[in-house]
Amino acid sequence: MSQTQQYTAPSAGTLARYQMLIGGKRVDASAGEVFETPNPFTNEVWATIPRGRNEDAIRAIEAADEAFQNGPWGRMTASARGRLLRRLAELIARDAERLATIEVTDNGKLMSEMHGQLRYIPEYFHYYAGLADKLQGAVIPSEKEDMFSFTRREPLGVCVGITAWNSPLLLAAYKLGPGLAAGNTFVLKPSEHASASTLEFAKLFEEAGFPPGVLNVVTGFGPEIGEALTTHPKVAKVTFTGSEGTGQRIYEAAARGLKRVTLELGGKSPNIVFDDANLDNAVNGVISGIFAAAGQTCVAGSRLLVQDTIYDQFVERLGEVARGARMGNPLDLSTQIGPIANAPQHKKILEYLDIAKSEGARCIAGGAAAQRAECGKGMFIEPTVFADVSNQMRIAREEVFGPVLAAIRFKDMDEALAIANDTPYGLASGVWTQDIQRALIMSQRLQAGTVWVNTYRAISYTTPFGGYKRSGLGRENGMEAVDAYLQTKSVWISTASEVPNPFMMRV
Ligand code: NDP
Repeated sequence: MSQTQQYTAPSAGTLARYQMLIGGKRVDASAGEVFETPNPFTNEVWATIPRGRNEDAIRAIEAADEAFQNGPWGRMTASARGRLLRRLAELIARDAERLATIEVTDNGKLMSEMHGQLRYIPEYFHYYAGLADKLQGAVIPSEKEDMFSFTRREPLGVCVGITAWNSPLLLAAYKLGPGLAAGNTFVLKPSEHASASTLEFAKLFEEAGFPPGVLNVVTGFGPEIGEALTTHPKVAKVTFTGSEGTGQRIYEAAARGLKRVTLELGGKSPNIVFDDANLDNAVNGVISGIFAAAGQTCVAGSRLLVQDTIYDQFVERLGEVARGARMGNPLDLSTQIGPIANAPQHKKILEYLDIAKSEGARCIAGGAAAQRAECGKGMFIEPTVFADVSNQMRIAREEVFGPVLAAIRFKDMDEALAIANDTPYGLASGVWTQDIQRALIMSQRLQAGTVWVNTYRAISYTTPFGGYKRSGLGRENGMEAVDAYLQTKSVWISTASEVPNPFMMRV
């Protein structure tokens, strides 16, 4: 892929019309309603998406339950499930460019990033395909001489995956890879702000040969379709990525039915630069933490902590990079900062810019909506750096989800740790230092599910990912993720010739 290669949006000039996938059939919403989805760069509607409601969610849950209880999926060997996942991975690799273009058109993420993501997503399915037939129970060495005991690791049943708009396909891979390898069936609901790529992706399931109903995709607005998805008695588990507030509502709703829940809820991650760091690398690491994807990532390193000996020069260097960043068409591979994915998010970021200024933060770059010609009619925010931020300001405590960096000073390691951990969140953190002892102490004492040392925003299907504190519950990725889609059954087989005293427990 050359740097000058230019991509065009799918269906340029025409309106794409998407359908949901329920029980192996492409269907409209029961009431025939649709909503329009705009391209955040052109601000023009490019597709219509079915506006499903609770009755559509129920249809999808029943299809998933039927596939789990009575379909060929439930009787398939684990090795056969693995083969289907591998076939799916091959099809995603084949269609990577097309899927990436659709996602960019829908949520404005950079093609340069999405192309990489789509080439990587097949690896998730290969990894979990390999794991499918290695999910073993155990023979238990029982202390009872006349008893043979073993465990089976069994799927939960119907799992509901609810994803956010910032990376719908990657987030779907986090959930489907381990969940399908374990033998569950799924109802997936992407965000109303970026549904198209998931609907396209679902077509590959049919082509890969998955039985109908193993994956169902419903679309619509969370409040109109979410009730059934989170409370229906046939749903065994809900796995969610999104905001803290919605996560809380989903957790409460799922708790009424005692469903299992995995939540990934974002944060206010500290990126900590010590004065002995390789500063060129640290600048790049801080930029990648906050301006990549226009800051719309759950792991955004939105709180920058810099040691006071280098604070002014470091922050000024960031300001220069921010002012010089190339903004524009996300399909153009030379673009560094694309649009904000949707209008409510754009408005929210602008509000936080005002809040930061009113709190006394010093804006040294950006601080406003972008008015550059290359931004066209898109919803852009200038990459923004606020200096002289205190950790008590709202700009340092609340998730902005945009290209807005809050830079805080610290004196020494203890103070850096105190500031870094003084947050209700704990998804990720970054440490920039050449001192191995300091790196190890920091990695031990930071209260976050991920600590990156001299790097930032690295992910892998092999490595668990999830939050401490209010950033979430459970882990995705790695072998640990599969455990969250399995339950253990203990089987006891008596080899005794008679049943002993029936009025006593067998202890
Ligand atoms: P939400 O948390 O509201 O949405 C995430 C997903 O949940 C979407 O699919 C949404 O559907 C769905 N949803 C919403 N309400 C319900 C409900 N009652 N029951 C079931 N599902 C529901 O995120 P937003 O898109 O509104 O973004 C708001 C903020 O969340 C952002 O400003 C950002 O701070 C944060 N965020 C965090 C992310 C992360 O990775 N941690 C990712 C995205 C956003 P629908 O969109 O159709 O309503």
